[in-house]
Amino acid sequence: MMIHLLTKPRNEDVIPILGFHEIVSDEEKDSTYASNMWVDSRSNFLEKMEYLHDQGYTTWTLDELYAWKQGKKEKLGKTVVLTFDDGYASSSEWIAPTLKKYGFHATTFVIGSMVTDTKHTVYLTYDQMKDQSIMQYASHTFALHDQDNGFLMDQKSIGQLREDFEKQKQVSDISYIAYPYGHVNESMLKVCKEYQVKLGFCYHENKMAKRSDDDLQLPRFAITATTSMDSFRAMLEQY
Ligand SMILES: [Zn+2]
Repeated sequence: MMIHLLTKPRNEDVIPILGFHEIVSDEEKDSTYASNMWVDSRSNFLEKMEYLHDQGYTTWTLDELYAWKQGKKEKLGKTVVLTFDDGYASSSEWIAPTLKKYGFHATTFVIGSMVTDTKHTVYLTYDQMKDQSIMQYASHTFALHDQDNGFLMDQKSIGQLREDFEKQKQVSDISYIAYPYGHVNESMLKVCKEYQVKLGFCYHENKMAKRSDDDLQLPRFAITATTSMDSFRAMLEQY
């Protein structure tokens, strides 16, 4: 029994899912976001994309990841999934055109209430989310992205969680969801099942996703402004 537990998953049965947030110009990073680890510079981001490209990585869409989870698709080589949280306008303005040059695909998880409230100019607009050829847009909940007094999700009834899904489905695809701060609870998992969510993403677990993982609680690696190239490589080559 111990031998079984110590056996590492075979490489084809694991995949690194990377989670980024906001990417800004190097000047803006230095002037405005120097101490904010969730905001990274374009040059740091490009170094990582360049590495993936040089190493021959393929980036999977969430539909491809789901097919793999279902046993309907196999990895043919080095594979990674790129995700971006919160839904910043940069996803459409700079990240998608940049990924296109590398032949990469990614998903941005958008906070629906930030899209519908047009005073938040750093967030995506409906118009910017129309083209999903490179960047696809999925759910980061409509308005549960708050943890000032504990996780907002934990303070909502099942009915309120359903209401949040009803609003978010007007804004983005809800087949895929990244839980705010990677935090999920039993009520949320129940509502995800009701709405036939295919995959749910947590955060900060710093481990590869296994084919056998719960579809609604997949781990992701957090990539921040403090993630060195050494630790980035280590995430990709854990097994
Ligand atoms: Zn978030």
